[in-house]
Amino acid sequence: MNEIPFNVPYSTPSDLDYCRAALNDNHLSGDGRFTARASELLASIIPGTKSLLTTSCTHALELAALLLDLDPGDEVIMPSFTFVSTANAFALRGAIPVFVDIRADTLNLDESKIEPALTERTRAIIVVHYGGLAAEMDTINEIAARHELAVIEDNAHGLGGTYKGRALGSLGLMAAQSFHATKNIQCGEGGALVTSDPMLMNRAEIVREKGTNRSQFRRGEVDKYTWLELGSSYLPSELLAAVLTAQLEHFDEIQAKRHSVWDMYQDTLTEWARESGVRTPDPPSHVEHPAHLFYLLLPDGSRQQSMIRHLGQHGVKAVSHYVPLHNSPGGRTYGREGSPSPITEMVSEGLVRLPLYPGLTDAAVERVTDAVRSFRV
Ligand SMILES: *Cc1c(COP(=O)(O)O)cnc(C)c1O
Repeated sequence: MNEIPFNVPYSTPSDLDYCRAALNDNHLSGDGRFTARASELLASIIPGTKSLLTTSCTHALELAALLLDLDPGDEVIMPSFTFVSTANAFALRGAIPVFVDIRADTLNLDESKIEPALTERTRAIIVVHYGGLAAEMDTINEIAARHELAVIEDNAHGLGGTYKGRALGSLGLMAAQSFHATKNIQCGEGGALVTSDPMLMNRAEIVREKGTNRSQFRRGEVDKYTWLELGSSYLPSELLAAVLTAQLEHFDEIQAKRHSVWDMYQDTLTEWARESGVRTPDPPSHVEHPAHLFYLLLPDGSRQQSMIRHLGQHGVKAVSHYVPLHNSPGGRTYGREGSPSPITEMVSEGLVRLPLYPGLTDAAVERVTDAVRSFRV
C-alpha cells in the first residue's frame, strides 16, 4: 500500500501553457503580464488591497520590515508559535522579536498578553492567522491604535479566510502571503506583500526593485532610474508568476476540494476526538477558514511522536510543527520573552497535522481517519 503523502501541490492544466507563454514572450525577469494578472487576481480575493508579488512570504515580511523603518533595538510583538521567518525578517533589521503566548482555542496570538509586553521601543504587532483562523483583529487593532503600533498580518495560511466578513490580508497595515509548495495556492516558492495604503505601495515598489525607481522608469514616468533608499531584489521571475496565475485562476476549485477534505476530517473525527480528549480545529462563528490545515491536539505531548509513528505504520504521513521560537537558540539570541509561553510549549509537543491537499480522494481520507481512530491516545 502506497503511503499517503502529507502534501501534494496542486497542478492545473494551465501551468505548463502559461510557462511556455512566458518563455515565448522572451520575458523571464519580473513584472511582466503574468505578474500583473496574478496581482489582479489576488486583489480580487483580498478586496480593497493591492499586491506586489515577491519571491517568498519570508521576503514579503522582510519588505514589510524595511518599510517600517525600524531602528536597531525597536521591538516587535509576535507569537512564539510560528514559523521562523516571522521573527527573522525583523531581527535582520536589528529589531527585537518579543515573543508572546497563544490562545488555547485558536492557537493565535493571545491579545490579552500584548499590552503587558509593550515597552517604549515597541513598534509593531505581527499576527499569524494560524490555520487561516483569524486572530482577534478588532482587539488587536484597537491596542495598536492606542499605542501607535503598526499591525502586520503574516497571512501565509490565510488566503481566502475572513474575520467578521472581511478578508484576511486586509486587516492590518500590511500583510505577507506565501505561495510556497505547502500552501493552498502555490508556485513552488513565492509570496506577496499586500496593503491598501497607496503611499506604502509606492515605497514597496522601490524597495522591491533594489531600492530604485526602476518600476517608474519602466512605465515611462522618469527617463533614468536611480538609487533612492535601502532595498533588495524581491521580485519573482515571470516563470513563477505564470504558474501562480494558473493556480489563482483555479482558486475556487482548489478551495472547494480542500474544504471537502477538511469537512470530512471534522465529520469523521469530532466524536472520536471528544471521547479521546483530543482537540481538533474549532473555528469561531465570526470567522471563515480557508481549509489550510487540520490538526489533532493530543492531551499528552509524549504521545505526539508515537501517533506520527502509528500513522506512518498505517501508510499515512503526518507531521508536527512549530518548534517554539522563544526558547530556540535563535530566539534567545535575537529576541526576548514578552510573556511566559506555556500554551505554545504544550501545543508544539502535542500537535499532529494530517495530510490535506486537493488531490486527496475520499478513500484516502477514510484511510487516514481509520488510522487515526485506531490509535490509543
Ligand atoms: C510558510 C510560512 C512562512 C514562510 O513562507 P515562505 O513563502 O516559505 O517564505 C511564514 N510564516 C508562516 C506562518 C508560514 O506558515
